Amino acid sequence: MTIGNLNPNNEIGASAWFVEMENNRILLDCGLHPGILGTTALPCFDLISNEKLDAIAITHCHQDHCGSIPVAMQYFPSAAVLMTELSYHILPRILHNSVNVMKYQAVEKNIPEYPLYTHEEVMALEPRFQGFRYNREIEWISFSKTCLGIESPTLEFIDAGHTLGSAGILLRSPNGESLFYTGDCCLHDQTLLRKARFDDVHADVLLMETTRGDHANIVDHKTEMERLGEAIIQAQKDKRSVLIPVFALGRTQEILTELALLMGNDKILPQKIYIGGLGRHFTDVYDLTASRTNRNYSKLKFGELMDLQTIEPGSLSKIRLSKPHIFVLTAGMMNENTPTHDLALRFMKDPELSILFVGYAAPDSPAGRLKAAVQGEPFFFSEFAKEVVCHCKREDFDLTGHAYRDELIDLVGKVSPKTVILTHGSPDAKAWIQENIRRRYPNIQVLDPQPKEFITIEHTA
Ligand SMILES: [Zn+2]
Ligand SMILES: [Zn+2]
Repeated sequence: MTIGNLNPNNEIGASAWFVEMENNRILLDCGLHPGILGTTALPCFDLISNEKLDAIAITHCHQDHCGSIPVAMQYFPSAAVLMTELSYHILPRILHNSVNVMKYQAVEKNIPEYPLYTHEEVMALEPRFQGFRYNREIEWISFSKTCLGIESPTLEFIDAGHTLGSAGILLRSPNGESLFYTGDCCLHDQTLLRKARFDDVHADVLLMETTRGDHANIVDHKTEMERLGEAIIQAQKDKRSVLIPVFALGRTQEILTELALLMGNDKILPQKIYIGGLGRHFTDVYDLTASRTNRNYSKLKFGELMDLQTIEPGSLSKIRLSKPHIFVLTAGMMNENTPTHDLALRFMKDPELSILFVGYAAPDSPAGRLKAAVQGEPFFFSEFAKEVVCHCKREDFDLTGHAYRDELIDLVGKVSPKTVILTHGSPDAKAWIQENIRRRYPNIQVLDPQPKEFITIEHTA
């Protein structure tokens, strides 16, 4: 098989892997770099523009894995777009939201090529999307217009435990070759979602995420979530508002679960929880699909149990912060023109208020700069706000929807591949994973293809 790394940057960025198996071709993920503006945020579709692509299969609906699908469809108009049925409920909203963000950036940041695609293009593509259940082996022939012959490779989505609908993708060719792509995966239970169900997966080639490879794990998820709970309880006792910046898909619902548990156990009073519009939409999808998801608390319906108040544009300024409110708001990076950005500016002025960080923030994002800022000293927050001073309290919690690095090394042993290909991590993260695989499994080949590099792997079955 031939595998090509279309991500132009040697970092997490825009995930996109080209795979050719016995003259059949597929693209695994089709991301957009969340921290880069313009066409340089795209995968290098030019490298495969002459290929007949059967399909684009996406692991989950985070921007770095699905944000460039409409652009890819301009190159490969006959390719099918495959995902889990749970992602199928989420993807259109993610893409429409990207159009809105790009339209704003076109004007505010003067990027003439934005938007890279329009609402009309997304709507025109939607009939091309196909959703599949987990653990069903699907023949490419069944969805492909370009697949020739009687036998074709198969594809299977396997629950990755990262966010609602997330999956690893297992490819098997008729001659017995196999490849397993983990996508973003979580190999321990989160508060709501249970861990990936990768136990029975075996493959010749393991294409594995390495996000946490540069990060030794000090506390487990449960302990860290309890510490967050204590911080929220304390803020409520002190009658202080808290702001928790989150991503709309995944982290929002994990935090809401913790809040539901705190209220259910009488640790905090039942009250309104303020959330963003996109977070609210995905929370409703979590509720609607609760019985079909591998999760804890399958009877917990956020919309029924909690008084969720959706923040509408313009409504934020009317909310007084003198009361102990809880805000679980997008965007996690506090980008401009989002509720977290605007609310953080108000929070920073008041030493009594708290911002609780519960996930990764890129160092060059407003949230990353706020995390690193020295208390009481001016720092550059955003183009809109310029220099500000932070007086409010800030706390960091090491919560993640990604596998811990030791869990990834264990996964390699279980999948028992001949070759591991590293992806979705910083150079330091990949170096740690590479070294530890070599130490523990000296017979397994480890490859770290560079941006735009194509490799051919021959494994006879
Ligand atoms: Zn993700
Ligand atoms: Zn990712």
